[in-house]
Amino acid sequence: MISIPPIDGQAIQRRLMELSRHSVLKDRLWRPSYTPQEAEVRRQLSGWFAQAGLQPRTDAVGNLYGHAGGAGAKTVLVGSHIDTVKDAGAYDGCAGVLCGMAALQALLAQYGPPRVPVELIAMLEEEGSRFSDASFWGSRALTGQTSRDMLSCRDEDGISLARAMEEAGFDPAKIDTARREDLACYLELHIEQGPILEHRGVQLGIVDSITGIGILRVEITGRANHAGTTPMDLRLDALQAGAKLVLQLPELARVFPNATATAGSFQVLPGSANVVPGQVTMLIDFRAARQEDLDALGLLLDQAAHELEGEGFAVSTHFRDFILPAPLDPGLGRLQEECARDLGYSAMHMISGAGHDCQFFARQVPSALLFIPCQEGRSHCPQEYAAPEDLSRGARMLAATLYRLAWVD
Ligand SMILES: [Zn+2]
Repeated sequence: MISIPPIDGQAIQRRLMELSRHSVLKDRLWRPSYTPQEAEVRRQLSGWFAQAGLQPRTDAVGNLYGHAGGAGAKTVLVGSHIDTVKDAGAYDGCAGVLCGMAALQALLAQYGPPRVPVELIAMLEEEGSRFSDASFWGSRALTGQTSRDMLSCRDEDGISLARAMEEAGFDPAKIDTARREDLACYLELHIEQGPILEHRGVQLGIVDSITGIGILRVEITGRANHAGTTPMDLRLDALQAGAKLVLQLPELARVFPNATATAGSFQVLPGSANVVPGQVTMLIDFRAARQEDLDALGLLLDQAAHELEGEGFAVSTHFRDFILPAPLDPGLGRLQEECARDLGYSAMHMISGAGHDCQFFARQVPSALLFIPCQEGRSHCPQEYAAPEDLSRGARMLAATLYRLAWVD
């Protein structure tokens, strides 16, 4: 039986509120990477890390570490990210960093330094809210999964990632030095960002797999024409065709367990009320927990789009941004189950429908992702909220898991 001291969830929440004040927007939270506001958060966290007994350092891309001590060749890493989406809540990402910090602080106070090296990490540009073609930048750099192309991708103002790094004081030529090849395992706590835990009244989610994501771009071309003089039966209305495809998404996704398909980006041309739409372009985001399901769903969506050719439309499709599903480590899953049982918390196994830094680690080292509930499942919005008791339970779970991995033999 592990003895884990109580952890003050309200103190974690107060710190989350403090971090949320660092935003590039006036009354809303948006903290893109390589901005002065992000540097401010790093500075704030460095101070807290040091107070908690974690030696701070920043790597070549801007990930912030806190070293808890311990000796040996392999490091146990725990953490999450500090960047946010536009109009964000305070919990996505930062909750994982601060719960990790609270867990390590409690363990250091109760048991002294760990047996093996343990580090906390606060990563950047997970969301891709500034550089959409370089999402997960921090964890990619750390696991050697970046590409040179990413450095030339641009933000909305046309500033390249390389230039943004330079302006923030980092040298893009050195990103390879951020690579870690000495990791024993990676642990991450995150708010669920969905309603399942709250709905079922379960305190913790042990994630078995992070869903894979594909984006299918579909362009449908019909014939633009006068909205008043073109009879209904002589039209080739591209929006009608596009809408038909969108309406098929639920039934296509339902073919596979835990799969989703969403057309969240939709452009209509020429976009005038008095013109029959001549062209639509949409991005279909599709997700599944298993690789074979993701591939098969992509094919079904592609087929459904091309079936519109039979009605006279020209259809072109192309797949972009494939992120492979990431099965997490079953051994760490069992360890999390044991820790939850020891602490008296209820837990369930689940799939993550959102992408996380954890998936980049999972390809290389045993990795685990722990969910805590968030109110009404809301996330990526200002209403995002996790209760102090849930933050406390999550931090104590991390502490129990870290204790088993790095403090005892
Ligand atoms: Zn996140």
